[in-house]
Amino acid sequence: MYERAEARIDLGALRHNCRVLKSRLAEGVELCPVLKADAYGHGALHCVSAVAESGADRIAFATASEAALARSVAPDIPLLVLGALAPREIEMAISAGADVSAWEPGFIASLADQAAASGLVVGVHVKYDTGMGRLGTTDPDLVLELARTASSHPNLRLAAIWTHFATADEEDSTFRDLQRDRLAELGERARREFPEVKLHAANSAALIADPSCHFDMVRPGVAVYGMDPFGNDPADHDLRPVLSLHSWVASVKDFEAGASAGYGRTWTADRPTRVAAIPIGYGDGVRRGLSNKGEVLIRGRRYPISGTVSMDNITVDVGPDSEVRVGDEVTLIGSQGDELILAERVAEPLDTINYEVTCGISPRVPRVGRDD
Ligand SMILES: *Cc1c(COP(=O)(O)O)cnc(C)c1O
Repeated sequence: MYERAEARIDLGALRHNCRVLKSRLAEGVELCPVLKADAYGHGALHCVSAVAESGADRIAFATASEAALARSVAPDIPLLVLGALAPREIEMAISAGADVSAWEPGFIASLADQAAASGLVVGVHVKYDTGMGRLGTTDPDLVLELARTASSHPNLRLAAIWTHFATADEEDSTFRDLQRDRLAELGERARREFPEVKLHAANSAALIADPSCHFDMVRPGVAVYGMDPFGNDPADHDLRPVLSLHSWVASVKDFEAGASAGYGRTWTADRPTRVAAIPIGYGDGVRRGLSNKGEVLIRGRRYPISGTVSMDNITVDVGPDSEVRVGDEVTLIGSQGDELILAERVAEPLDTINYEVTCGISPRVPRVGRDD
């Protein structure tokens, strides 16, 4: 028996999802899974190895330290840092052998200096802000100027020009189309000078929704983990959830009508019943907003979280004639028998998205990679 709780990471499902996503791409389009934020809470180290073996041409991260960690287990695969690098992180990205993103002349100059000092050549992906309004430059002429800098400096290599979609998960494709067209237009200009430069734009939603967004490489994150970027059932796209979250029944007690469970007495038994206590709480990433709203599976049946989620425990009304016993496994995300709790459904009462549900599982919960 494991301690308190564990997140099981189905590496077979992760491989399957990579292959499914790759199969949607035209010949020659690269697959670049995004494993930032500890692989969306799934545990980066085992995920890096699994995707590297399953058709990934490159792996993307948000930060230099994430890339450096990946490099320690994957010596050969190309890496890309998507996010902004503080001056002190540049050296780490360079020594991990990662390509980096750039959109500012001052940054490219420091990058070139540090690469020269290390005697290395760094791949540069110039970021064009076509409408996300976050990182990148909105000025197409500056993109070309930075591309010229990257291609002419001996310690830099112009790898790509890229952008990021703001609304790819929405039904209305107008803004996504506009962003795509802006990248395509600038890409055409850039290729007159740099025939080899690659273009990339698509996250999971754009990868699935529209092949005209694929360009030369796609950067799926959430779909790699078998979650649906549109918040629906991932099975609709033949994606398999990779993460399941489990704990176990630590106590089962008889409750009289009127007895309460948990802080603030937010739940009171309306009939004689039995209540199970489960050693997982918001300290593990089970959000307090699930108090009296979330569900769990025990013995293949669905039960309500009854009472306030506390830091280390939740309580569950398992009914008066319950078969539930101390030691039974409890599933908070994942399946038991025919019952299934998707991260997409956990997100709903919290008014959030599946991404935040798995990213929010705290470091206290061990991630156990399984390959069956
Ligand atoms: C996180 C991220 C992605 C992956 O997005 P998903 O919606 O998870 O597929 C792709 N590109 C960039 C720049 C990102 O930050």
